[in-house]
Amino acid sequence: MKMILLGPPGSGKGTQAKMLSERLGVPQISTGDMLRAAVKEGTPMGLKAKAKMEAGGLVPDEVVVGIVKERLLKPDCDKGFILDGFPRTLAQADALKGTLSELNKQLDAVVSLEVDDDAVVGRIAGRRTCRDCGKMYHVEFDAPAVENKCDKCGGELFQRSDDQEETIRKRLEVYAEQTAPLIAYYKNDGILRDVDGMQNISAVQERILSELGCGQ
Ligand code: ADP
Ligand code: AMP
Repeated sequence: MKMILLGPPGSGKGTQAKMLSERLGVPQISTGDMLRAAVKEGTPMGLKAKAKMEAGGLVPDEVVVGIVKERLLKPDCDKGFILDGFPRTLAQADALKGTLSELNKQLDAVVSLEVDDDAVVGRIAGRRTCRDCGKMYHVEFDAPAVENKCDKCGGELFQRSDDQEETIRKRLEVYAEQTAPLIAYYKNDGILRDVDGMQNISAVQERILSELGCGQ
């Protein structure tokens, strides 16, 4: 399965991508995770990306296109991949097409998670992430058994610095202007699958699997 999960910040792309990755046995490729790792390590790319990410803007196309291209060349992508948070602009979508055609590969599906603005603001504001293993939680909708402690590895949970209310609004504006046009782009390619992302996490997962023809 070679697919993209598209949707506004907080729509559940990361949550669903992790579940799909386990279920389908293909890697999740999250540009947000890769950029945060680069920021943490203080690499030259991380230093370039940091200010943009903290302000809720987009990192330049050539930077993200480069890291995705490099990642897609790894052998674990031979069977497929789930792109999460990429592409985010029309230029990135065109670049992805070029890269896949060089690799003789084609996307199977683009799943568009539809969640309204008020819901994504509530989801992002309550998002917590494990410092050690990266597992995501929500203080209300997907709470850990012990407050601020990861169920999986016991690590401490933290709130992302770009998950503050003002930055969330900015990220939604950027999504509407630069990323939402990709819905029409992939509809035109005939591979877009709309999924109602307003339901609970497992219901959304079932809907995605059924759209992909992998349901039970
Ligand atoms: P994205 O990767 O699109 O930014 P996430 O997967 O990180 O979104 O989800 C954002 C927050 O919303 C997380 O705290 C997650 O636990 C929570 N969440 C994800 N899916 C749902 C859902 N269907 N219902 C309620 N909360 C959800
Ligand atoms: P995410 O984890 O997907 O919410 O991404 C966090 C931040 O990383 C975004 O707000 C952007 O600043 C940056 N980012 C992630 N993916 C991309 C991308 N494909 N293009 C540009 N910037 C990105």
